[in-house]
Amino acid sequence: MNQNGVKQNDVCILLVEDEQHIAQGLIFNLQQEGYSVIHAVTGEEALQFLEQYPFTLAILDRMLPGKLDGLAVCRHIRQNNPQMPILMLTAMNREQDRIDGLADGADDYLAKPFSLDELLLRINGMLRRSAWYRPSPPPTQHYALDSHTINLANGEVTGVNDKQVLTELELKMLRLFIDHEGEVLSRAFLLKSIWGIAPDTETRTLDNFIVRLRKYFEQSPSRPQFFITVRGQGYRFNNPT
Ligand code: CA
Repeated sequence: MNQNGVKQNDVCILLVEDEQHIAQGLIFNLQQEGYSVIHAVTGEEALQFLEQYPFTLAILDRMLPGKLDGLAVCRHIRQNNPQMPILMLTAMNREQDRIDGLADGADDYLAKPFSLDELLLRINGMLRRSAWYRPSPPPTQHYALDSHTINLANGEVTGVNDKQVLTELELKMLRLFIDHEGEVLSRAFLLKSIWGIAPDTETRTLDNFIVRLRKYFEQSPSRPQFFITVRGQGYRFNNPT
């Protein structure tokens, strides 16, 4: 592990750069960090290597000799691998060029001439954030329920005076209700969806979770407005807010 907590040996970087002196400097320094580097000079060569090696991250120069420029390589990678971190290098630093790169799927952008330290910092940051290194959380979505705001990505609930965090299963159940707002969800469906339990299993667990959700969100848990019991059928979630 290096100082960033990334296992270097597992990191293989695709470097696409036609200027030899820049490429050599980058290869040397990335290898010093412990990363493997495969160097392509053209976009065509990059596409070949992408078939052959399991890359973790790509550094793409934008202007390349041949028919495929860095943006084309970037689009190609994105079609096949939505999560690979991509850093675009360019001699141009006009706003439109940055927008082009980001629109084509680059995650970050560095204008030449760049400082090597900055490049290494960005690479390390991208690797830390990358889905390859750990599963990426779902994008942050905030959901309003009465006076509470729920971050559906991490389960944080912010209320008027308090803040709490839902457990993984509480959050899973809440998301399920939100996805099916207004529908009656049977006990069997809830048990199967959340716990993977055979629907005929008798369990109080489900009821306890409903009690917990009511305690978090209902102003009067004994007279629920949001998590409604539908006798003989299951539960229904309503959100009038
Ligand atoms: Ca170039």
